[in-house]
Amino acid sequence: MLLGEPPPTQADLHFRLFGFPVRVHPFFWLITLMLAMGGGSEKLDPVDAFVWVAVVFLSILVHELGHAFLQRRFGGHPRITLYGMGGLASCNDCDRSPRSQIMISLAGPVAGFLLAAAVMLLLNLTGHRAGFALTGDRIDLAALGVDSVLAPRLLLFNAYFEPLASAGMNQFVSLMLWVNVAWGIVNLLPIYPLDGGHIARELFTLHHPRRGIIQSLQLSIGAAILMAVYGLTRQSMFTVLMFGLLAYSSYQTLQAYQRH
Ligand SMILES: [Zn+2]
Repeated sequence: MLLGEPPPTQADLHFRLFGFPVRVHPFFWLITLMLAMGGGSEKLDPVDAFVWVAVVFLSILVHELGHAFLQRRFGGHPRITLYGMGGLASCNDCDRSPRSQIMISLAGPVAGFLLAAAVMLLLNLTGHRAGFALTGDRIDLAALGVDSVLAPRLLLFNAYFEPLASAGMNQFVSLMLWVNVAWGIVNLLPIYPLDGGHIARELFTLHHPRRGIIQSLQLSIGAAILMAVYGLTRQSMFTVLMFGLLAYSSYQTLQAYQRH
């Protein structure tokens, strides 16, 4: 996600990773924990909470690193900020050409998909059966030679893996797969300010700068409304609220454009 950078605070955590300056705003921990508690369980297990925060931290960091590596590849000097409900890889000297911007936007979700693939590979390399299955397909345990599998649903398909030694590890692997694949797919929807929204804008404005912006905003509103309706059918208040807000903010931006 790309929103404005929050102002610095006393509680910011600073470090460097692969040469990129990284700043973690205190709201990052707070909101990530609040999301964990919003999961419906009134009493949150401390291990589950720790695993959740670790997964979100790692996943968003890798996503932003994906953007940052490409920004640097095109000559920029990016910095990474983790805050609120996401992250930001930004630079003042980034290459603004449409081709570079599209590749930079794609690199975030792709980094997440690669991280999920690395988790699956690591499971297989350490002797744990793991793979992908189409949603609804029965996983043949006998053919795999295992007693049971865990199968987190990743929006369009399922991953499955032989359970590990501890409940915490199983939770970690399931969440790593789910966050990196499912959030990556959602992030590619053509909705502002998701990565897919930026890609759509670059594609639409290639030939018609002004009309392209308006068309990409109209697409953003339509796609966000569809996602909010989908959230209603799944009774996910979070999905309804998030995409409802994104539809509204795209609508406001569109109004501002059309006034000028
Ligand atoms: Zn991104």
